[in-house]
Amino acid sequence: MSQNIDARMVWHEGKLVSYDKAAVPLLSHTLHYGTGAFEGIRAYRTAKGPAIFRAKEHLSRLVDSIKAFGGTFDHSVDQLVDGVCQVVKANKFEECYIRPIAYLDDQIKGLKLPPNPKFLVSIAAWNWGKYLGDDAQVKGIRVKTSSFRRGDIGSTMPAAKITGAYVNSVLARKEANDNGADEAILLDPQGYVAEGSGENIFLVKNGKLYTPNAQHILPGITRSSVFELAQHLGLQVAEAGLTRNDLYLADELFFSGTAVEVTGIREIDGRPVGEGNPGPITRKLGELFFKVTEGKEPKFGHWLTHV
Ligand code: PMP
Repeated sequence: MSQNIDARMVWHEGKLVSYDKAAVPLLSHTLHYGTGAFEGIRAYRTAKGPAIFRAKEHLSRLVDSIKAFGGTFDHSVDQLVDGVCQVVKANKFEECYIRPIAYLDDQIKGLKLPPNPKFLVSIAAWNWGKYLGDDAQVKGIRVKTSSFRRGDIGSTMPAAKITGAYVNSVLARKEANDNGADEAILLDPQGYVAEGSGENIFLVKNGKLYTPNAQHILPGITRSSVFELAQHLGLQVAEAGLTRNDLYLADELFFSGTAVEVTGIREIDGRPVGEGNPGPITRKLGELFFKVTEGKEPKFGHWLTHV
């Protein structure tokens, strides 16, 4: 019996089944070669019950991610959104983290993929509070520039959320944690700032926001939400080639991502960022982000799918 009591019911190829019944074969191609794609989505507690944040965007990205393999699904984006809602409802979650995963079974042996391989989809969910610790959003976190680089765009597909690609993130995160930091910052092959192991980064300088160009990053759905929230607050945002030096001279730094939400960075490579705690623009954006996710900002109500 599994210890994962959070996700008693999962959506497995179109049906709700108990977690222990959702078996994947030992010779799944995805287990051996990393040929899968996944999503991370959050459901938030609102006055009208749980609501999924930007469900359609996440499930469209899942469909897009498997295009890297020329892959197909038996399910439409709308059916997958419905699957996510079913999982939240069946487990009676008021808020949770949701993990859809697309994978290959054991029909394909070896590296040669047939044309248009069919991917299977499962959706699980669990309670996942604050990704980098309970006080991360209040105090800010400590980051370290990683010795691991984001892959070159000629060898990886950074805009696709492919399971195998996450070995890079796991190694970077391990190195950061082993060296006393909460999270890693990865540079791209040319030495420009790319992103965190599982989040995008923003820099604030003289009241303006900057974030790395989209080439070597997963252009996050939270990142694009931050663009719109910043605009709503009258702040300018620019995509730019940012260096490690720019990070050291920033007034504020923060991460954006589904797991990390909006989290300020208080220290980078042993140097304090600004006053050594989340700065005013980070806090303002964070407050607006949570107002939106809790359904308290009607202008952004269309980002929520009520379960
Ligand atoms: N970059 C990476 C490498 C990630 O894994 C994630 C998390 N999906 C992000 C950025 C942030 O993306 P999102 O805001 O869509 O969660």
